[in-house]
Amino acid sequence: MNKIYNFSAGPACLPKKVLMEAADEMLDYKGCGMSVMEMSHRSSIFQEIIDEAELRLRRLMNIPDNYKVLFLQGGASQQFAAIPMNLMNNGVADYIVTGQWAKKAAKEAAKYGKVNIIASSEDKNFSYIPDCEDLCIDENADYVYICENNTIYGTKFWKLPNTKGKDLVADVSSCFLSEPVDVSDYALIYGGVQKNIGPAGVVIVIIREDLIRDELPDYVPTMLKYKTQSDAGSLYNTPSCYGIYICGKVFKWLEELGGLEAIYDLNKKKAELLYDFLDKSKLFSNPVEKSSRSIMNVTFVTGNEELDKKFVKEASENGFVNLKGHRSVGGMRASIYNAMPYEGVEALVNFMHTFEIKNR
Ligand SMILES: *Cc1c(COP(=O)(O)O)cnc(C)c1O
Repeated sequence: MNKIYNFSAGPACLPKKVLMEAADEMLDYKGCGMSVMEMSHRSSIFQEIIDEAELRLRRLMNIPDNYKVLFLQGGASQQFAAIPMNLMNNGVADYIVTGQWAKKAAKEAAKYGKVNIIASSEDKNFSYIPDCEDLCIDENADYVYICENNTIYGTKFWKLPNTKGKDLVADVSSCFLSEPVDVSDYALIYGGVQKNIGPAGVVIVIIREDLIRDELPDYVPTMLKYKTQSDAGSLYNTPSCYGIYICGKVFKWLEELGGLEAIYDLNKKKAELLYDFLDKSKLFSNPVEKSSRSIMNVTFVTGNEELDKKFVKEASENGFVNLKGHRSVGGMRASIYNAMPYEGVEALVNFMHTFEIKNR
């Protein structure tokens, strides 16, 4: 097998240890004679898998008892609709637009109520996080919405917005479990797992119980009501069984590593190595305002499109794959999620250094 480092933004690399364990259990899960893919989601053996996954996630994030954890489908994008459908009690929400994902979420929410864009960084191609200390929050707003880590642009909220007492909703798809968080700062945290946790097909929603309401407009599909999913323990219909199983393994891997403090330390070290190189480089640069830099998605450019293309091609030939930037930004992007080892970033920096010497 070729040794590669996969810098994909998502679906992204998973811990080798997790994949090997899954391979071991592929044909026979714990002596039951079948694969997790083949078992009933109503069986006690699958119930154990989902219960254990939830327990581990609760331990990792220190999730308070008055929050529910839901393992759903439809990706983060489906939540763009589910959130306003379930949470817009007054029919108003405030959105902070720091990239394409937040913009899409705001556009979708506007189908179900009044959406105020209370801050945006679109003026500078989303290369920074706006100051959110004193925003004009609508007094009727049911929630304030952010995309905490902007996967495409490589920016991150390092300080949560001052919501002036309103509930905060955050899309954490690309920074899920990358650092310790205080769940009680949020009303709802959600993310597709394919960036930092598991295989595509699962979206995790962590929601404060009092926001799970039964009385919703008639048009809200049964499947999109948090009440339906919560009452059924995420098993209203067949969930993404195998995906949930892999998520559970990743939670276990994180616990064994020392939890979110430990992975955060490692993530900071990896990001520092790459940003330090970029800041010193005479060829590559990072287009993001320093105080807004993401430690999960690192964007960079040479300033010359042809050279960018050459870099992506040569990097790929040398085993550094999926470094092409998002089509809306161009350039390069290295996604260095939890599962990317330090050695992977080190090897990338060495390769970039060599490329710089040859191409300046
Ligand atoms: C990838 C991504 C999405 C979209 O996720 P899907 O699961 O494909 O719908 C939404 N938000 C953020 C921050 C993302 O990185």
